[in-house]
Parts: sequence; C-alpha cells; structure tokens
Amino acid sequence: MPTDPVLVVHGGAWAIPDDMLDAHLNGVNNAVKAGWNALSKGGSALDAVEEAVVVMEDDETFDAGRGSFLNRDGKVQLDAFIMDGSTLRGGGVGCVERLRNPIRAARKILSESPHVYFVGEGAEGFAAEHGIPLCDNGELIIPREVERLRAFQAHATEQAPNLFAPAISHDTVGAVALDAEGNVAAATSTGGTLNKAPGRLGDSSLIGCGCYADNDSAAASLTGWGEPIMKLVLAKWSADRVLSGNAPEWASQEAMNYLKSRVNGHGGIILLDRRGRFGISHNTPRMAWAFQTKQRADSGIER
Ligand code: ASP
Repeated sequence: MPTDPVLVVHGGAWAIPDDMLDAHLNGVNNAVKAGWNALSKGGSALDAVEEAVVVMEDDETFDAGRGSFLNRDGKVQLDAFIMDGSTLRGGGVGCVERLRNPIRAARKILSESPHVYFVGEGAEGFAAEHGIPLCDNGELIIPREVERLRAFQAHATEQAPNLFAPAISHDTVGAVALDAEGNVAAATSTGGTLNKAPGRLGDSSLIGCGCYADNDSAAASLTGWGEPIMKLVLAKWSADRVLSGNAPEWASQEAMNYLKSRVNGHGGIILLDRRGRFGISHNTPRMAWAFQTKQRADSGIER
C-alpha cells in the first residue's frame, strides 16, 4: 500500500520549565529533520523513528541518553523500546548504564535477536557483541542532573515532595512514523523518573505500555508518569481504539482522559495510523512535539 510518509515526535510532557522551552522545541525539530531525512531517502519507518530518537538521546535537554535524570544512587539507568508495525517485532533494553544510545541497541535486538528484551549487563553485552561501543556511566551524567538530584534528596529528607508535581518535568523522547511502503513503527527512550530506585523499569520500554506499533491499528509513543501508564497498557489500549474504527486524533485524547479518570495518571501520547492520520494529546501543562508530512511541518510547546 504505497503512501505518503509521516513522522511525529515528542520530547516529553509535564511542566517543562520556561527557560527550557526553546531547547525542547529545537530538540524536537532537529529530531524530525533527522527522521524525515531517513524517510525521504526511502528509509523505513523503523529507520526514521530510530534516527529521530538518537538525535534526542544525544541532546542533553531531554531525559534520554546523556543528561538523563539520575536514580537514587546517582547513576543514569536507561530504558528504550522500538517496534515494527509490519512484523510486530520489537526490541527493548532496560536499566542499561553504559549505552549512549539505548535505542540503537534496541534496534539491534529487533533485527538480530530472537528475543524481545535484554536488561542490565546482558543488554550491554549484547550491544557490545553487535558493535555498539560501551561508555562509562559517568559519561552520561551532567552537572545539571547532579544538582537536581542533590536538591531533590535534600528536600526529601525534610518533607516528602511529590515527585509527580507539575513542577518536575519529564522529558522522555519518542517517535512514530509511517513510510512509503505503508508500514508504521514506534520508538521510545528514557532515563526514567528522578530519584528512581535502582532497577526500576518504567513504562517506556514495556511493549504496549509506553510504546507499540501494529500496521493493523496504529503506532504509539507515550511519556509521563510510568506506573499509571503501564497499569493501563496504554499504548496498546490506544492502538486498539484505532483498530475498532476511531480516528487517532480522538483516540489519543481519549487515552489521556482514561489515564486521568481510571488511575489519576498524567502524561502525553503521539498516535499515528497507516492512513497517515495522527493525534498528539497530553493532560500535563506542557508537551514538546513536532511533525512532518509531505504537505506540512509544525512543532509546538505551550508558552
Ligand atoms: N514514562 C517515563 C517513566 O516513567 C518517564 C517520562 O515519560 O518522563 O520512566
């Protein structure tokens, strides 16, 4: 089914601070450029979502790759997932500490392993065996995040702060794409939540929770408070609404309503079907997004 390509990306939801708005907008625009470049060269939807996410993992603005939130022990621990809507093959990594671009390792798992997931040292070993260089965890840590964790932990001893108050931004990154062959794909990458317990896995890398893709329904990538999102298996829930005949614009909004009403959750979603229809919705104060189609390109963040 030949079709016009579409690419949609997000750079996290929640209350992105005022002084970070331009950085987020630049970041999502750069990601769309890279992903669109792959699509316009005849690349697959999988290539496009991988390249778009790599750009945001490399951008310290976001909670993905270098510059991610630190866990309780002051380490970066990353989760990522990528999925091909034409074959339903997926590749995921969880709690990796030595990969600059966990989405690259996830793509290798998708294409070169019979398995869907590798976590921790096993994931790093798999990546290294497949030619992906490992780094020291310290290379992923930046001073901004050391200070953020210090301030959070100092405050936490006096009075337990609400980690999910709107003042804390969540800058997980993700992309969904439709290629000229009519296939959809999705990818999500994150450093998770600030001060998380070591070994905690969020929704982002869990199939059907923070990421999903099926040509029969839709491709989805989510961001936000991971535990409520995973309880609802929300990426798959949203894709299923499209399968049953609803437009992605409606289904994405409905997913956010369901997240709030059922488990008092907050987040954002991008959802794209193989007809090229897409929805961008969130129930947080802000979300950074960008898209490109043959006819138009746009990006946004609440000012
Ligand atoms: N969903 C991510 C997690 O809970 C965080 C985020 O999207 O910002 O790990």
